[in-house]
Amino acid sequence: MLSDFHLHSHYSADSETLPEDVIETAIKLGMKCICFTEHNDFEFPKNHDNFDFTLDTKAYFNELNTLKEKYSSRIDVRIGLEAGLEICFEDRINNLINNNSFDFVIGSSHLINRLDPYYPEFFENRTEKECFEEYFINILDNVKTFDNFDVYGHLDYIVRYPDTKDKYYSYSAFGDIIDEILRTLIYKGKGIEVNSGGLRCGLTFPNPHPDIIKRYKELGGEILTIGSDAHTTEYIGKYFDRIEDIIKACGFEYYTIFKNRKPEFIKL
Ligand SMILES: [Zn+2]
Ligand SMILES: [Zn+2]
Repeated sequence: MLSDFHLHSHYSADSETLPEDVIETAIKLGMKCICFTEHNDFEFPKNHDNFDFTLDTKAYFNELNTLKEKYSSRIDVRIGLEAGLEICFEDRINNLINNNSFDFVIGSSHLINRLDPYYPEFFENRTEKECFEEYFINILDNVKTFDNFDVYGHLDYIVRYPDTKDKYYSYSAFGDIIDEILRTLIYKGKGIEVNSGGLRCGLTFPNPHPDIIKRYKELGGEILTIGSDAHTTEYIGKYFDRIEDIIKACGFEYYTIFKNRKPEFIKL
């Protein structure tokens, strides 16, 4: 079983799962190593579920370090972060990352000009193409601005949310922007994440689409992490058999895990 490097527990506002339940489930699934990647999104807009996505790092590290020790003979537990990247919070995000000893940091785009594509108003009064373009340009701005993350999370996950899903989406439709994102990531030595949540949301592919994974490889990218993005235990490691086939078909012989922000390569 591949190592799951994108997991949430109740330290993320949109999960109620106990970290210990996550660990027990991963052990049952036969995983050797997992990484918690709790959300931090500063000043998340209060207009929907009233979520506060500010991570309580002190409580998080306290509990996870205890559990890490408790389970050390059975599974290697690592402590990471999913940082919602927004240029308006550049200093706060960099301070959060620099002031804590995370094993692994996923950089993600959750808010595009302060709007979350998870909610329908992101798509209101404009075409899907315009929405997707704005989203990818936002990612490009983020990857140019930020240096302090390890992989970019669920690169094209916006296609999960319009009513038409991926009907009007393809890598080639946004190839110019996506190539620039990938080239910037590779130049900075950053990876991409393959997030099986796309399959869970009814798409026929993970995020990003295999065409993007293939393109990342073609352009010289080497760092691919695998994550379920599970917020409940039932989704831990979900669809990882399919992910393994997909990334092999994209030309990868290794996938990557991180410890102390350093990549470790594992043969598929
Ligand atoms: Zn995310
Ligand atoms: Zn996540």
